[in-house]
Amino acid sequence: MSEVAKLDRQDIIGIVTIDSPPVNALSAAVRGGILDNVKAAIDDPAIKAIVLTCGGRTFIAGADITEFGKPPKLPALNDVLSTIENSPKPVIAAIHGTALGGGLEVALACHYRVATKDSKLGLPEVKLGLLPGAGGTQRLPRAVGPELAVKMIVGGDPISAAEAHKAGLIEEIVEGPASGGVEFARKVVAENRPLRKLRDDDSKIAAAKADRSIFTNAVAAITKKSRGLEAPFAAADAVGYAIDLPFDEGLKREREGFLKLLTSDQSKAQRYAFFAEREAAKIAGVPEGTKGRKVERVAIIGAGTMGGGIAMSFANAGIPVTLIETAEEQLKRGMGIMQKNWEATAARGGIPADAPAKRMALIDGKVGLENVKDADLVIEAVFETMAVKKEVFGKLDQYAKPGAVLASNTSYLNIDAIAAETSRPQDVLGMHFFSPANVMKLCEIVRADKTAPDALVTAVSIARKIAKVPAVVGVCDGFVGNRMLAQRGKQAEKLLFEGALPQQVDAVVTKFGMPMGPFAMGDLAGLDIGWRSRKDRGIKSEIADALCEAGRFGQKTGKGYYKYESGSRAPLPDPDVEKLIDETLAKLGLKRRNVSDEEILERMMYPMINEGAKILAEGIAARPSDIDVVWLYGYGWPIYRGGPMYWADSVGLKHIAERLSYYAKETNDPSLEPAPLLKKLAEEGKTFASLAQGKAA
Ligand code: NAD
Repeated sequence: MSEVAKLDRQDIIGIVTIDSPPVNALSAAVRGGILDNVKAAIDDPAIKAIVLTCGGRTFIAGADITEFGKPPKLPALNDVLSTIENSPKPVIAAIHGTALGGGLEVALACHYRVATKDSKLGLPEVKLGLLPGAGGTQRLPRAVGPELAVKMIVGGDPISAAEAHKAGLIEEIVEGPASGGVEFARKVVAENRPLRKLRDDDSKIAAAKADRSIFTNAVAAITKKSRGLEAPFAAADAVGYAIDLPFDEGLKREREGFLKLLTSDQSKAQRYAFFAEREAAKIAGVPEGTKGRKVERVAIIGAGTMGGGIAMSFANAGIPVTLIETAEEQLKRGMGIMQKNWEATAARGGIPADAPAKRMALIDGKVGLENVKDADLVIEAVFETMAVKKEVFGKLDQYAKPGAVLASNTSYLNIDAIAAETSRPQDVLGMHFFSPANVMKLCEIVRADKTAPDALVTAVSIARKIAKVPAVVGVCDGFVGNRMLAQRGKQAEKLLFEGALPQQVDAVVTKFGMPMGPFAMGDLAGLDIGWRSRKDRGIKSEIADALCEAGRFGQKTGKGYYKYESGSRAPLPDPDVEKLIDETLAKLGLKRRNVSDEEILERMMYPMINEGAKILAEGIAARPSDIDVVWLYGYGWPIYRGGPMYWADSVGLKHIAERLSYYAKETNDPSLEPAPLLKKLAEEGKTFASLAQGKAA
């Protein structure tokens, strides 16, 4: 018998326990273990019912994704499931922890399901660009009806045990998985309940068979945000087979859909992103076993746009915050915005009705920096001026308790210089959140020259605790994300001088899959910020300057590169802007030319890749995948393109280097010349990924 599963007997009940730490993933060994032990239980005349349960912290949490892309190993999951489903004795899945993906598909093949109350059940395959490939799309609609099935399969979010109970996915909520499963199994035997095979039960899909709009409306609602993605639509099609086709035919079509996605570029990119995110949590160059410091209370300095959002992220995770401002008025304003924000979420049903009050109670508003004294971690989010930051850190040095980690949320400034204002630079680092900070998942953790390893570990683990995705980066102007973005911004602006219009540039970028183009983004952030900074530095940018001189500061004034109808954030192309560009070019003696979409895409993306290569060569990012994580979670890079460095590998570095050289000459811009690392990889026919593997790709 297999080591990862065993069969125990409690008189008439056979208990098959899977024990394959850490999460009982459905490896070939686990599949084999289930099959052997279920068969043995079926063959044992003393056994009248079979409970399938797991040891450790969870039920089967999903497929073994390390098997993806390798030759399939037997037994196939579908064969295991049909053995369970066709068992002449009732099989009861007893769930605790998370029954996800293949794990839930196993449970769905059982005749009954029970779960502990903290369990989560879901089919998240779509998040890896896949669809459930072992009957999930056929059995779940039969268990819960097509609407909830679409939500779970096409949306990919799990549901709680309580929801599962309400929807009929589980029969009972139990105390302990094995004991509850056994108790339920005895009931099934005592009451002589029939074997409930979902495959044969069309009762919950009958309504959608009669009126298909029940299904199509559910799909339309859930795929609203799936622009560019293949998997949600393929997954929806598969749920449709459950409604339209006999079970076995549906199962076959589901499998075909799964296999097609498995080899698709999108799914490969999405699975890469999954691993990249996990990899990013491993900090390069920190001694193994380095433990983080304890963080029980956080102080946040500044209750503005960022401070407020950061405070919300901590309170959302149940961590108490001291929020510090310079005066009562600013404090009140900041607290008011947070409260409104939570109330709006509660009104939409996103959080329980009592959550806003509970979360507000975790935030202690205070005036004066001396109030940082109880905090284990301090995050500064005051104005982006070196003098102000230096003053704040000087005071933090005075008031913060020994060993507190002192972080700055600066977007661009030099953390080494900020750390030098303190007598404890080993405790200082950057925690660069993205706006809106309560929503955006990225946190660039900036390692300064003197940052201690345990301070770094503390920042990474607290970021994860508040559901952010940390990526460790080094000190430089703009760190990884904004530094690369600046290259795109520079080209976007140049393109206007050559003949492109803001809406043309933005359309190319959004068609690629980014949520917003550079000009719409500028309008959102406010054009006056850059204008003021250019004036301070004595720099000109004639088109952007002319817009600001005309009072067009972006969304806040209803006009910028676009115009905005009152109350709307939708950018509308504005003939006045085209006129203003024409006039500016005429003044400069420049002529507009036709700029192709292809050129726009190349000039938006390749200079960023080039900067990424420099970032890698300088060691600002340890791995190409860390750069990808920054773009995926901080800037909305389309997950089905994996991230800029992953995408660059797929385009081919030789091509990118050649095009950069071409544009360097054509537009007389030496900064576009390929970086030495890019050039070297291109010449050697290698990829960025080859750097991560430390060998040629
Ligand atoms: P903001 O102007 O909205 O907020 C700054 C707040 O800090 C103000 O409420 C101000 O009263 C307060 N403050 C100033 N000095 C203080 C002091 N000595 N003690 C206590 N409070 C003080 O600015 P923001 O947009 O939240 O930016 C804050 C920081 O975050 C900046 O460093 C910025 O570069 C960075 N950042 C901003 C964004 C963004 O998109 N807004 C994104 C990432 C990082």
